[in-house]
Amino acid sequence: MHEFSIVQSICEHAIREAEAHNAARVLSLCCRVGVMRQLVPELMETAFTLTSEGTILQGARLELETEGVRVRCEDCGHDAVTDEIPFACPACHSGFIRCEGGQEILLVSLDLEQEDCHGSADSPPA
Ligand SMILES: [Zn+2]
Repeated sequence: MHEFSIVQSICEHAIREAEAHNAARVLSLCCRVGVMRQLVPELMETAFTLTSEGTILQGARLELETEGVRVRCEDCGHDAVTDEIPFACPACHSGFIRCEGGQEILLVSLDLEQEDCHGSADSPPA
């Protein structure tokens, strides 16, 4: 289960970013995750809920974006990008394939709420 350590470093990064922008809170964060990392989205969610507790990230939505993997077949030359972990060429089913990419773990964007945002009147004081 490497989800926890990955989510932890994403959270640390996000907290630094949020503080740098004087955010009151974080509404959502978007992460791009490579298919080859074999991360389980449900575990990412759980890890995020636990890790974000008590931080500026608490209550934020974690959005996951998939980075596909490029498959090149050594036999037939088929070249494609897929969101599934490839074990064989999708065209000729040869096992002689090369995979590229799909390894990314990246914080793509943060949706922040600023301190002086109007409309804060209807939210109770912290
Ligand atoms: Zn092939």
